[in-house]
Amino acid sequence: MPILKLVQKILKPAGSSASVQPRVYPRSEHPISRRAISPNALKVLYRLKQAGFRACLVGGCVRDLLLGREPKDFDVVTDARPEQVKALFRNCRLVGRRFRLAHVQFGGEIIEVATFRAAAAPGREGDWAQEESGRVLRDNVFGTIEEDAFRRDFTANALYYDIADFSVIDYVGGMEDLRRGVLRLIGDPESRYREDPVRMLRAVRFMTKLGFVLDPTCEEPLRRLAPLLAGIPPARLYDEALKLFLSGFAVQTFEWLRHYGLFEFLFPATEEALKVEHQGFPSTFLLRALEAADRRLSEGKPVAPYFLYAALLWAPVRLEAERRQAAGAAPGVALQEAVSAVLTEQVQRVAIPRRIALPMREVWMLQPRFERRQGGRPLRLVEHPRFRAGYDFLLLRSAAGEVEPELAGWWTRFLEAGEEERRQMLQGPRQRRPRSRRKARAKRAFVSS
Ligand code: ATP
Ligand code: MG
Repeated sequence: MPILKLVQKILKPAGSSASVQPRVYPRSEHPISRRAISPNALKVLYRLKQAGFRACLVGGCVRDLLLGREPKDFDVVTDARPEQVKALFRNCRLVGRRFRLAHVQFGGEIIEVATFRAAAAPGREGDWAQEESGRVLRDNVFGTIEEDAFRRDFTANALYYDIADFSVIDYVGGMEDLRRGVLRLIGDPESRYREDPVRMLRAVRFMTKLGFVLDPTCEEPLRRLAPLLAGIPPARLYDEALKLFLSGFAVQTFEWLRHYGLFEFLFPATEEALKVEHQGFPSTFLLRALEAADRRLSEGKPVAPYFLYAALLWAPVRLEAERRQAAGAAPGVALQEAVSAVLTEQVQRVAIPRRIALPMREVWMLQPRFERRQGGRPLRLVEHPRFRAGYDFLLLRSAAGEVEPELAGWWTRFLEAGEEERRQMLQGPRQRRPRSRRKARAKRAFVSS
């Protein structure tokens, strides 16, 4: 960090500048009704208040309530210290290494209670550390509600619903931005991205989720600062990437991430592979897979993270397998090696937990097996625990023109068929092919893509 900026920060730490008067919207001037708030969150708020503490809802839930959406979860902030919160609730645990939070558990619902925190600033009580790039490594400092507001990322995420009088408290112009549909970082956009480059990904996530426009001053630094993502721990990027692609707006998210040059720092090999045209057309496989994920989520169906990751990394796996095959490797070996090579490189950017990597591998390794329809093989394949995911993957590949539609159609019929029909399908002409030709076919079929 340049010396001048550092000095300025010490003299005037972000968020703890001369006190700002918040705009307070009384109950009559905002639409948040207690009926829309989780009863458990209300219990926590009231209990804190009765014990003499300040207690507010904050962040995503206030934003969503104001927009008339159903919040995913309810986060509470208070001036009570974590130990004081714990003393008030029987069903409460303290969690978090970087900063202590209280989790109050009600059956399946957890209400997270955080103590007001200040922006990262050197020379204050508590923990603070910053890298050369501006990235803040630790910022465990308790603060006032005002400081708490200024350390948050976007204005829309920094509104407080105060249980004392049911008002909405706004230090940062968030209400106005919400009304206008603008996503805006609090403070100087470049420094806020540098403090935490993941905010670049969050910008894309909230734009698409809320249908907001990103303020031009927050848009401008993105391309330039995108390389800072390379310094983020892969485990954190795994969580963020999942949130990005399981948002229900994966297609839009993907397009914005590429537009801002962010995607290549998450999935470099995929970005490279997407440039390679196939028979004069860029592959549409990934787009179709993301579309399918969005569709499933909109129908309330789950999307397995391993399937999503298998789709995100399929383009480089496929190309690498083809390359290795062209260099003389047997198809199965080529694929196996390609999978290992791509995963080894990928996990240096975005972590992939073992529980995800194993089924991803299976979905990929099943692909060539769909090409072999002789004898008892299809019946054995159907029994594979990952068959359904592998088949869905095959359908997407087929829709993208990677495999013959005839093959996907055959499997669809096979799955719908009764026992007798299946037997007939398995006795098709290919049954009688001489072994050597069958082998040659299977080999060709996989490279056909
Ligand atoms: P969602 O509904 O998708 O969970 P959210 O706004 O609740 O959205 P979270 O990631 O759950 O998002 O974070 C909760 C709140 O914490 C945010 O609203 C924001 O105020 C603050 N916050 C989260 N991440 C950051 C960050 N990287 N920098 C600054 N503030 C953050
Ligand atoms: Mg949240």
